[in-house]
Amino acid sequence: MIMKFDDATLEEEAERLYSHLVKVGWSKSDCEIIAPLTLEINHIKKEKNAVILAHSYQRPDIIFGVADYSGDSLGLSKAAAATDADIILFAGVVFMAETAKILSPDKTVIVPRRDAGCSLADSITAEDVKNLKEQYPGIPVVAYINTNADIKAEIDYCVTSANVIQIVNSIESDSIIFLPDHNMANYIRKETGKEVIDWKGVCVVHEEFIPESVIEVKEMHSDIMVIAHSECPPDVLEKVDMVGGTSDMKNFIENNPDTKKLFLVTECGLSDRFAIEYPDREFYGTCSLCPYMKKNDMKNILDALVNPQEDQIIDLDVDLMNKARKSIDKMLAFNI
Ligand code: SF4
Repeated sequence: MIMKFDDATLEEEAERLYSHLVKVGWSKSDCEIIAPLTLEINHIKKEKNAVILAHSYQRPDIIFGVADYSGDSLGLSKAAAATDADIILFAGVVFMAETAKILSPDKTVIVPRRDAGCSLADSITAEDVKNLKEQYPGIPVVAYINTNADIKAEIDYCVTSANVIQIVNSIESDSIIFLPDHNMANYIRKETGKEVIDWKGVCVVHEEFIPESVIEVKEMHSDIMVIAHSECPPDVLEKVDMVGGTSDMKNFIENNPDTKKLFLVTECGLSDRFAIEYPDREFYGTCSLCPYMKKNDMKNILDALVNPQEDQIIDLDVDLMNKARKSIDKMLAFNI
């Protein structure tokens, strides 16, 4: 730590953190330990005109301690496009920081851990996409936002779990290529009735869920609502009450105040975030940790903000960014 804070300031910050984090099991002394770090990070953000965008799967101390905006990939993309900060520190994984850079090419975009990949994004190369296009000429190529910039430069439409069905339905073709998520491709096929040529990628987090967990929790709680992310396997999705992305889950909770018991079949960070934001609800069941998302912590965020190393600064070729931006802009134009 470089900066010093007086006892009253540290106590006030620890209390602020505790008021949120107690709901997910943090003690007051845990909060006292991180208070100097959150104070320093928030101070440096102001000094450098920086913002921290944090994905909902980040640790709750990052989301409630230092993030200026937290949300899903779509919300974060919009926040990246709208910010007037000079620096965006992306507490998430690398493809998200790349998306922020594509949308804000004049800003400095920093990612604390360059090795924070994603099993979906890393499952496919630009060469693979070119081969698919050669194999299926004229078929529109739709890709999940969980792809690296060179993939986005090769596709027609970028989508997130929040808008994928609406965008695929709007495409005037009965067939699409969808990549890289095999499970989401199954879901699109079922929801749209279109022919979907897919890729073999899976999310290592959502792939782990099994239908038995859903059956078990429903047997224990007859009044529970089970919502699963569309990255889950089809046999899990068949057993749940609703399928959707992060924003669908949030909207459901907000629009259904009488639904008190929920099981979110997704990454643990989101369940933690919702447990803090909706204290009148009870969240049941198991969740799963993303090993990539959890590489970020308060210390590496502070280091990256104070003195970003070359490999922590996102640097993309301008032509590549311009090509990739077209598919993202088409998605944002939907305004979903
Ligand atoms: S949760 Fe799955 S899709 Fe999201 S970053 Fe982790 S591996 Fe990738």
